Amino acid sequence: VARDSSFTTALNVPSDVLEVMGLLESAGYPSFLVGGCVRDALLGRQAMDYDLATPALVDELKKILVDYRIIDTGSAYGTVTLLTGQRELEVTTFRADGSYSDSRHPDSVSFSTSIEDDLSRRDFTVNAVAYSPTQGWADPFGGRADLEAGVLRAVGNAGQRLQEDALRIMRALRLAATLGLRVDPGLSKALHDNKGLLQNISPERISAELMRLLSAENDQLLPVLLEYGEVLAVPIPEIGAMIGLDQRSPWHTYDVWEHTVRALVAVSPDDLVVRLTLLLHDIGKPPTFTIDETGRGHFYAHAPLGAEIARDRLQALRFDKRTVQQAYELIRSHFAPIAPDTVLRWLRRLGEQQLRRLFAVKIGDMCAHIDSAVISGLPPILDCLDALDEAISSRACYSLGQLAVKGGDLIAIGVEPGPRLGALLEALLDTVVEDGQPNDYQRLMAAARQLKDLDLGAPKEADAADHIEYTSGKQEA
Ligand code: ATP
Ligand code: MG
Repeated sequence: VARDSSFTTALNVPSDVLEVMGLLESAGYPSFLVGGCVRDALLGRQAMDYDLATPALVDELKKILVDYRIIDTGSAYGTVTLLTGQRELEVTTFRADGSYSDSRHPDSVSFSTSIEDDLSRRDFTVNAVAYSPTQGWADPFGGRADLEAGVLRAVGNAGQRLQEDALRIMRALRLAATLGLRVDPGLSKALHDNKGLLQNISPERISAELMRLLSAENDQLLPVLLEYGEVLAVPIPEIGAMIGLDQRSPWHTYDVWEHTVRALVAVSPDDLVVRLTLLLHDIGKPPTFTIDETGRGHFYAHAPLGAEIARDRLQALRFDKRTVQQAYELIRSHFAPIAPDTVLRWLRRLGEQQLRRLFAVKIGDMCAHIDSAVISGLPPILDCLDALDEAISSRACYSLGQLAVKGGDLIAIGVEPGPRLGALLEALLDTVVEDGQPNDYQRLMAAARQLKDLDLGAPKEADAADHIEYTSGKQEA
């Protein structure tokens, strides 16, 4: 263990964390900052959370840190969470894990008094560096050199470490992409060789890592998704059929998977629903693929079918209901034509947030076509975005909430509360959104008096716009 006090300032350790370290030290226990906070500081990033490792056992910790609120997060594993007032701080007793037989959990854990033992149970060298202002560095696996060189490497034998805990497969992809690290060849081979073990990992944990993977910056995410598509095809089997599927289209140079990946990295990571949608937007292509007499490929109705498949897959991965519904809706509509003069109609159907996402999806999708398609296809989408901005800034009416006439106004002229009242309000909204008439109280009340005794029929099917396109095949780009 070498001393290097300059790093203490670089690490920017908050005073509440230093205070806990000081208390442990006075009681005769060294403690180390370890894991993500050290790694992130070495990369010049502000750490998200701080983890401490110490030889003190949980019972001893509780005595020394008696003035803190302590949550028993995993005392069997030597972990407690301390509420410092500033943050939740995880403090863990040095641990050496026993053997693993289920690719998930160690069969036993034993506590240790050596930081090196504790570091050797950790997954990757860049996560196995520890630092203490008084003790200095502990870096037995060369994690700092690997970080410097931009390499993600397993601690010890890569295959064995992935077999112990297969979640490390997803963590490897996530860390490589979010930190911009190259995967060491030995680890890379082990990721491919052991990908099947991901089947032992709970869907919730896979999804959490998947979303963190998708949050990576464009340049760093692209090579990871291209290289490890087969790995992601374990939790998302539909990806397997996308890899290598030649679209036989004049608009495409990439197979369906590469097109998907390039579409995904063309959009910002700020909205993960958009990225998740793009990951699955063409999930309906493999099952709808046909080749016509000229040798050209088609994917008729891939959007509505893909939406169904994506919904089932996201549900199986235990995504929350809202995310599933949003991705479903976006995939369903991703291929539908939109023009500036139908933007209000789409706003009514999807709402502003989802329509903005739909445009982002369309832009990402478009950017992953051949250059000439991008040049001709992008401006019309940008025109729609302008029309959307204009509609929002001019407070155009596209929803019942904005309509100048409310349910109460209709009841006052003798309409019974119930489904008919709803249908009448929708019909009035139609006159504004579909026919472009003013959202004016007097006009709407006059229209309401005319419409109130007519049979308005069943609510109309909102998907007409999808249909035109799938059957014409005109908008294949
Ligand atoms: P972040 O906080 O950004 O997720 P992190 O590396 O801190 O990154 P945590 O899940 O907080 O991730 O884990 C803290 C540390 O515990 C890691 O840096 C690593 O040393 C170790 N660790 C976490 N998960 C595993 C695992 N599955 N196998 C081995 N070590 C792990
Ligand atoms: Mg952490």
